Amino acid sequence: DAVVVLKNVSLTYQADSDIYALANIDLSLHEGEFVCLLGPSGCGKSTLLKIVAGFISPSAGQAVMDGAAIQGADWHRGVVFQQPPLYPWLTTRDNVRFGLRMRNIPESESRQLTEEYLRKVGLEEFGNHKPYELSGGMKQRVAIARSLVNKPRVLLMDEPFGALDALTREQMQSLLRNIWWESKCTILFITHDVDEALALGTRVLVMSKRPGRIVKEFKTSFTYAIS
Ligand code: ADP
Ligand code: ADP
Repeated sequence: DAVVVLKNVSLTYQADSDIYALANIDLSLHEGEFVCLLGPSGCGKSTLLKIVAGFISPSAGQAVMDGAAIQGADWHRGVVFQQPPLYPWLTTRDNVRFGLRMRNIPESESRQLTEEYLRKVGLEEFGNHKPYELSGGMKQRVAIARSLVNKPRVLLMDEPFGALDALTREQMQSLLRNIWWESKCTILFITHDVDEALALGTRVLVMSKRPGRIVKEFKTSFTYAIS
């Protein structure tokens, strides 16, 4: 079943401009898929992700989640960026449960969920640390836990491991693969690294630029895992 559908989506950043960051994008994200979006810098990957996130609206076409038009940011769509925007004055634990508090989740449930997701990302020992005391990989673990603790329908990741060293990146890839495997959440993952797309995705979409279009699409050998 499709969770997210983009129908003939085009986007220009300036009104009345004929410069399209995206042109005629048709895309469905199915339940439990891990879709990697691959392409050169500037081809529109972040723009596409921001439309799915609800940060920007298409200039033409429709963006739909579970049958309703996507409008504005919403905790059902978790977003993880390359530079995790953590609150520097909050501990790991408080960063992770911030969204649960905003949503008025009861304290006991919130505490239980927070500890569960700290464990899932391997940060149970670092709950009381502040972001400046954590490495880049650990900060990204906090960001992932902070999104997933809300049990979003989709997780949208924009080059989440792009700023990490090679070893940390591999560790984070296997952590994410395990989390996806366990939770079967639907993931849209941006990268410009072919190896990363092949290592993680059940499906890989390749974009080209000017205007941004999806020019190729293929399934990887992980496909058997979902269906
Ligand atoms: P990435 O390739 O990781 O998306 P970029 O450096 O291309 O990184 O862009 C980072 C962000 O800066 C974009 O997601 C967008 O919001 C913003 N940006 C990029 N190009 C422009 C531009 N021409 N004008 C204004 N903002 C831009
Ligand atoms: P990618 O993520 O693939 O690097 P982006 O989606 O960030 O690509 O950008 C696609 C195109 O849109 C680029 O030409 C970029 O300069 C332009 N762009 C991105 N954000 C903005 C913005 N806020 N204002 C104007 N142009 C933008």
